[in-house]
Amino acid sequence: MPGFEIFGAEERKQVNEVLETGILMRYGFDGLRNNHWKAKEFETTFAKRMDVAYCQLVSSGTAALTVALASAGIGAGDEVIMPTFTFVASFESILALGAVPILVDIDDTLTLDPLAVEAAITPKTKCIMPVHMCGSMADLRTLKAICDKHRLILLEDACQALGATYEGKHVGTYGDLGCFSFDYVKTITCGEGGAIVTNDEKYALNADKYQDHGHDHIGKDRGAETHPFLGYNFRISELNAAVGLAQLEKLDGILKIQKQNYLLIREALESIKEVTFRKVPVGGEENYSFLNFFLPTQELTARAHKAILEAAVDACFYWYTNNWHYINGWEHLRNLKTLGNLPLEVKNQMQDLNNTDFSKSDAVIGRTISALIKIGWTDKQVQERAEAMKNAIASVL
Ligand SMILES: *Cc1c(COP(=O)(O)O)cnc(C)c1O
Repeated sequence: MPGFEIFGAEERKQVNEVLETGILMRYGFDGLRNNHWKAKEFETTFAKRMDVAYCQLVSSGTAALTVALASAGIGAGDEVIMPTFTFVASFESILALGAVPILVDIDDTLTLDPLAVEAAITPKTKCIMPVHMCGSMADLRTLKAICDKHRLILLEDACQALGATYEGKHVGTYGDLGCFSFDYVKTITCGEGGAIVTNDEKYALNADKYQDHGHDHIGKDRGAETHPFLGYNFRISELNAAVGLAQLEKLDGILKIQKQNYLLIREALESIKEVTFRKVPVGGEENYSFLNFFLPTQELTARAHKAILEAAVDACFYWYTNNWHYINGWEHLRNLKTLGNLPLEVKNQMQDLNNTDFSKSDAVIGRTISALIKIGWTDKQVQERAEAMKNAIASVL
């Protein structure tokens, strides 16, 4: 996920256009800004690129999830179903609204297991939040059917899958709402930033207001605007949006190189019969930002990961023990460590995460290694990396 690898003259030019006017805010100051509306321009360009009606840019991917949930009317006591393998932003955004994260197992797609989702639905469930981890997607068709059947909102966290497609649509645009992150390590970066996409006008209008203190954005006098409902400040600055605009131009090039590098490494690993690959749902194409593969047992996987590190191959992750993308790493969530009091609804409805059986997820994540794909590698470096990984894995089998 390498946007930062190619920061250059284009980004500097965009940022300088903002610095020259000194108008760092996305709203107002019409006469002084030399007609630069970087956030607005990003939203229009991104919506077109994603083939979706609306885009709302905000200050981070976490903010995007929070604003998306709020825009769909999710609040205190509403249950949101999310996976055990994700980034902490999933439960942070849900808890921020007083809603209740309900964690369920993943399957070999490395995303929500639809059977586990259906089993977790209660009368309080409002939303299903699949997280398209490490470049590929959840079984969206099945999840959509579940949402339709139970009248639930489908909110896609596509922060790690920008550019992946499913049944001809960009992931993030299949559900009711989709979220992206443009933080520093994502496929493209704003420095910090995030976006909500939707085809639903009501959600789009809600998001527009909610992320800016409830301002209705009607007219040209900010002080005279009305506030149909309470909001918050999740605005992006023009400087961040400017970086994003330059990066967006580079997206197609990034995806192309990622795919080439991914395929070279995959080909090398395919020669090992014990290695199998992450399941991509029928109709899906990954964005190739990670190569995710399985070994037959947890013990072999831990040893293979160690051997890969010892072979000085960087950016290969064993999430099961070494990172906080998996529930094993969320001691603070499992024990509900917060600074202040949690809402009663959360206290009453949260699962006891220390005593919930996630052995199905353990059986998947315990056998998963994810290799980040960078775009700055030369062909020779990719070949050497593939060879080193192959030898390291073979050495433990
Ligand atoms: C990065 C990320 C986020 C949050 O993004 P930030 O911009 O860092 O707040 C949310 N979900 C997933 C899956 C991510 O990888």
